[in-house]
Amino acid sequence: EQLEDTEKFTFQAGSSSSSSSSSSSSTKIDTEISRLMSLIINSLYKTREIFLRELISNASDALDKIRFMALTDPSALSQNSKLSISIAADPESNTITITDTGVGMTREQLKQNLGTIAKSGTSEFLSKVENSKGGDDVNQIGQFGVGFYSVFLVADKVTVASKSNDDDDQYVWSSQAVDDFVIAKDPRGNTLGRGTQITLHLKEDAKEFLDEKALRDLVTKYSEFINFPIYLWSSREE
Ligand code: ADP
Ligand code: MG
Repeated sequence: EQLEDTEKFTFQAGSSSSSSSSSSSSTKIDTEISRLMSLIINSLYKTREIFLRELISNASDALDKIRFMALTDPSALSQNSKLSISIAADPESNTITITDTGVGMTREQLKQNLGTIAKSGTSEFLSKVENSKGGDDVNQIGQFGVGFYSVFLVADKVTVASKSNDDDDQYVWSSQAVDDFVIAKDPRGNTLGRGTQITLHLKEDAKEFLDEKALRDLVTKYSEFINFPIYLWSSREE
């Protein structure tokens, strides 16, 4: 299916700290991106549950940003004044969805923030994991500025719907990892008001994360230092 306004991109190596063009990226960097992706995709590490920590941490960062903006501009919260994180598991569609009412991302930010992989982070992370016994250092992914990609530890398809105050429309980023992603206007319209909704289509061998008790325990474990309410929804049939 082809959605309105769809653009396809390949993951780019770039600097996380500047918006400079990455068109001069070398082959070596591209190779590192595919090494990073295949390492994550093929991971059987026990620690793959850390995807949840990375997503909760990103949601919390996004909520911090909008709360800070609202200090000088209260209208920043006009689309939604509630600052929270919701997590839902749906065994029927094999998905876990994490929604925050944070700052959200514009179309351009979806492309930049989820499509540009920091070169320094990637090579440091790769050497760390590849030199570690059993690969358990994948746990440290967040320290290298590539924490988002931990979603591919458990998901073979990921969609990120996001609405920023700085964009008229809600957009959807979607990827099956490897080396490309697409961005399109969300056919559902602006369902979020403001914020980000990440849907993980779980791998066949990652369905354990749909279990309500297991998910609840993980959320408890990884929300200890989070200063926003986290709601857990289960669509389990009674
Ligand atoms: P880091 O958190 O270290 O910057 P990540 O790979 O975890 O690296 O995330 C990359 C970037 O994607 C973040 O810096 C942020 O700009 C953007 N991002 C990720 N998740 C969200 C979210 N829930 N809301 C808004 N922006 C997000
Ligand atoms: Mg992060």
